[in-house]
Amino acid sequence: MGLVVLKFGGTSVIDAAAMSRVVRIVSHARVEGGPVVVVVSAMAGVTDALLHACEAARAGTIDDAEARLAAVEARHRAVIDTLFPSSVRSQDVWREVSREHDDLRAVLKSVAVLRELTPRALDRVAAAGELMSSRIVAALLRATGQPVRWADPRRVIVTDDSFGGAQPLGEATRRAASRELRPAIAAGEIAVLGGFVGATADGITTTLGRGGSDFSAAIVGAALDAAEIQIWTDVDGMLTADPRVVPGAQPVSRLSFDEASELAYFGAKVLHPSTILPAVAQSIPVRILNTLRPDRPGSVITAEGPRDGRPLTAIACKRNVTVVNVTSTRMLLAHGFLRRVFEVFGRHATSVDVVTTSEVSVSMTLDDDRRIDAIERDLSLFATVQVERGMAIVSAVGDNLRADPALAVSIIAALGRLPLRMVSQAASRRNVTVVLDDADVPAAMGRLHAEFFAAVEATR
Ligand code: ADP
Ligand code: ASP
Ligand code: MG
Repeated sequence: MGLVVLKFGGTSVIDAAAMSRVVRIVSHARVEGGPVVVVVSAMAGVTDALLHACEAARAGTIDDAEARLAAVEARHRAVIDTLFPSSVRSQDVWREVSREHDDLRAVLKSVAVLRELTPRALDRVAAAGELMSSRIVAALLRATGQPVRWADPRRVIVTDDSFGGAQPLGEATRRAASRELRPAIAAGEIAVLGGFVGATADGITTTLGRGGSDFSAAIVGAALDAAEIQIWTDVDGMLTADPRVVPGAQPVSRLSFDEASELAYFGAKVLHPSTILPAVAQSIPVRILNTLRPDRPGSVITAEGPRDGRPLTAIACKRNVTVVNVTSTRMLLAHGFLRRVFEVFGRHATSVDVVTTSEVSVSMTLDDDRRIDAIERDLSLFATVQVERGMAIVSAVGDNLRADPALAVSIIAALGRLPLRMVSQAASRRNVTVVLDDADVPAAMGRLHAEFFAAVEATR
C-alpha cells in the first residue's frame, strides 16, 4: 500500500489513554502498510477554551482569559506527566508545549490591552491546540522507538488570508508539503503535524474553519498523492443518521464522494464539508474509522458508490438554522430582484444553504446569522423581510434518488403531517431537503430512519 494519512479527531486525543490508543493504531498501520503521515486535532474542548479565552481578553477581563489558559495548560501538563514517566523526557516535551503557552499569554495580553480581537490574533490563539497536541503525539511515538518528524503545519499548508476559514492554495501547498514532508517519509520516519492550521505565504498563522483538521488531512493527502486518507473518530463510520438524534443509526459501509459531501454539507459533523474536495480531485479514498474500535471496517468513500439498490444512503440534519423570507414589494416580476437579494448576503459575507423561490418571494436558510440585523436592514430597502429562528434542515441523501423518482414522494410521505417550511430537490437530484421547526427534528429523523433504514436496524 502507498502512503496513508491518518487523522485523529479531538476525542481521539482527549486524554492520556486516548493518545496511547493513537500510538497503537499508528504503529500498527506502519507495520502493516507503507509510510504514514499523522494529522492530529487539538484535545477535545481545547479549541473552544482558547476561543473563550480570546473573548474574555477582548472584554478586558484578562484574569478570566488567563484562568482559561491555565486550565488548558494544566490539561496538557497532566497528560504529559502521565504519558512520560521519566522526568527527563516529560521535561523535554513540556518545554516545547509550554513555549506555545508563553506565546498565547503574550497574544491574549495584547488583546486585553487593546480591547480589540483581530481575526489574525484569534487564529493565532485558536491554532495553539493542534500545535500542542501534535507535539505530544509525536513525542509519544518517538518514545516507542520509532523514527518521527514533527512538522509545523504553517510550513506545510499555504493558504489565503481568510482568517477563520482560510482556503489552501493548491500549487504552493503541494510544493511546501513535498519540501517539508517527503524527506521524512523517504527516510522511513512518521511525519506528525497538527490539523486545522496553515499560514499565508508570508507565514501568518491561519485556521481552516471549525472541524478543519479533516480538511488538513485531505489537503496533505492530495499534496502527497496518498493512497488513502483515514479519518479516525469516535463512531463506527458515516452513520445512516446523526447518532445523537437517531440512536439506532448504523454505519454505511460504502458511499460516493458526492453523497458524502452532501451529507457533510447538510450537517453530518463526522466529516468537515470541504474534506472531500481535495480527495475528489485525485480520487483518493477516504475511510472513516473508530479509534475505540479499530477492528471495525468503518466507512469508505470513493468516487463511485456501490450499486446495491439501497433507496437512501443516509439522512442528515442541521439544527438551529435561521430562515429569511424575502418578499418583493415594488419589484414584482422585475428582473434583478434575486441578484439584489443575494448581493446583500454577499456583502455581509454570509452564505445561504437552502433556497426556495416563488413568483414574488424567496426563502433562504442561514447557518451563521451573526450579521442578520444588518442583512435585514439592507433587504428592507427593497423588500419585506421576515426572519424565523429555531428552524432546522433535514436532508435525505442517496445517489439512488436520481434513478427512482418515486423516492422523493415516499420521503415527503414518511414525514407525515409535520409542517414543512421549505422543500427542495437540487439539480443534482441526490438529496431531498426540507426545512422545518427545530423541535420537529427528532420526529422527522426518526420517521425517515424507520421508513428507510429499518431493515438495516433489524439485521443488527
Ligand atoms: P472528531 O473530533 O473526531 O473530528 P466530530 O465530533 O467532529 O469528531 O465528529 C464525530 C461526531 O459526528 C460523532 O460523534 C457524531 O455524534 C456526529 N455525527 C453527526 N452525524 C453523523 C453521521 N451521519 N455519522 C457519524 N457521525 C455523525
Ligand atoms: N480543533 C479544531 C476544532 O475544534 C479543528 C478540529 O478538531 O478539526 O474545530
Ligand atoms: Mg471533526
